[in-house]
Amino acid sequence: MQIAAHCVARFHYTLTNSQGEVLDKSQEGQPMAYLHGGGNIIPGLEKELAGKVAGDKLNVTVAPGDGYGDKRPELIQQVPREAFQGIDTIEVGMAFQAQSAQGPMRVTVTAVEADTITVDGNHPLAGETLNFEVEITEVRAATDEEKTHGHAHGEGGHHHG
Ligand code: ZN
Repeated sequence: MQIAAHCVARFHYTLTNSQGEVLDKSQEGQPMAYLHGGGNIIPGLEKELAGKVAGDKLNVTVAPGDGYGDKRPELIQQVPREAFQGIDTIEVGMAFQAQSAQGPMRVTVTAVEADTITVDGNHPLAGETLNFEVEITEVRAATDEEKTHGHAHGEGGHHHG
């Protein structure tokens, strides 16, 4: 069976950036599952998986535009330390939920100075060219419930609490 719309595919992956550093990988024995055409994975990867079958191995390079987008400078902001009232220690790498004009946004602290804190609301992988080493382990038809929910269920998929 080939990967197409209304299929659930499972695959192992290793994600590296353009410097060759491993950013993420699937767990041994636990390939991830996604619903093809459901927007569950980044577009640049989904596009390349179409038509593949179980057992296929491939390398996919995804430009930022087909991945997590370009880094948007307007999402990097300096905010006064007073905005972090009640938080004793602020360190680079800490993540906060911030209010923005577009609603709640996850921001990461990228610099700490005496009076100002720099936060970045970009996705951590925005602006990165990503390389995926992929091995497809299973392709099956999606169930009606999966199609309705827009994601894969079962092992490697979405679990409802
Ligand atoms: Zn569901």
